[in-house]
Amino acid sequence: MKSPASLLLALVVALAGAALPAQAASRNAAQSAASLSAAERADLSFMREEEKLARDVYLALYERWGLTPFSNISASEQQHMDAILMLLRKYRLPDPAAGRLVGEFSDPDLQILHDTLLARGLTGDVAALKVGGFIEETDIRDLDGALARADNTDIDQVYARLQCGSRNHLRAFARVLEAVSGQAYQAQVIDPLAVETILAGDNETCGR
Ligand code: MN
Ligand code: MN
Repeated sequence: MKSPASLLLALVVALAGAALPAQAASRNAAQSAASLSAAERADLSFMREEEKLARDVYLALYERWGLTPFSNISASEQQHMDAILMLLRKYRLPDPAAGRLVGEFSDPDLQILHDTLLARGLTGDVAALKVGGFIEETDIRDLDGALARADNTDIDQVYARLQCGSRNHLRAFARVLEAVSGQAYQAQVIDPLAVETILAGDNETCGR
């Protein structure tokens, strides 16, 4: 006759059996996590919070200035955050944004950048639109670096989609800046020629 302990073990095994496919999936993911380089892991963590920085600044600037792109684009940044979170989960990496409120960051540099850009954006609507452009250019630059360091197709695809989004966002901010101020948008972070090329291009469809 089986001992109570072995009966309990049998029950636990039987219950665990129901969750086997998920366990197998996470074991595979855990194995592939080891295939990520330290740079790829750091980039995923950083990009998760950089997308959050964009979302959080735009939420606050929409509340202050009521300009439509801040509302539309903050929703898009939420999707970008979600896309990175899926990768963090797939590779079983911790989420630096877990439990962080709007405007709160784990990365001290991103916290400073957020606070600086938000303060600047609250000084005026034109300044706010320039802050939008600054964030998008920064995102394009940082995604370039992350793309160069990543050698996993799933990660590359997400970064490319986020960068495509950033080009559209930069076009939107530049367009509204011009409408509101009569000024042409000036590059702030990346090569002015690259900005000129992006602004001269049509809005893109950024695949899933
Ligand atoms: Mn984004
Ligand atoms: Mn963006």
